[in-house]
Amino acid sequence: MICAKHRGEGPLEGELVGQTPWLSVWHAPAEADGRTRLGHLIVESDQHAPHLADLTEDEATELGRLRTRLASSLREATGADFVLAAVIGLGIAHFHEHIYARPTREPNDVAWHDSDQLLPLVDDEAVRGLAERLRGALQGIA
Ligand SMILES: [Zn+2]
Repeated sequence: MICAKHRGEGPLEGELVGQTPWLSVWHAPAEADGRTRLGHLIVESDQHAPHLADLTEDEATELGRLRTRLASSLREATGADFVLAAVIGLGIAHFHEHIYARPTREPNDVAWHDSDQLLPLVDDEAVRGLAERLRGALQGIA
């Protein structure tokens, strides 16, 4: 799915927040009803790399800086207490990292990997607004 998107094929999913020399940042796509959980980002490598272990030194260096910049901006923009990051890759063998807000630690029965269920469901306009606010985080990353 991600590779098809990079080739310019298939439906464009999610809102593009921006790009750095080696990476692209997307807001997560809408759910079936057209609304989106606000504050779930996905960072992808532009070159094909299946998993975290396959990134180049340049990509890894940029990812480290970008992740922290995005976390700071996402926390400020959403008011969330936490920003989580996860690289899973069990479903799609093209590197991508999830970076997502969690408003509060509680409720404790919502697991860390379900944290986006605590985010507000919003329309496209709200997603574009957040993406615009986050673009500054990408400045000067190289
Ligand atoms: Zn790929």
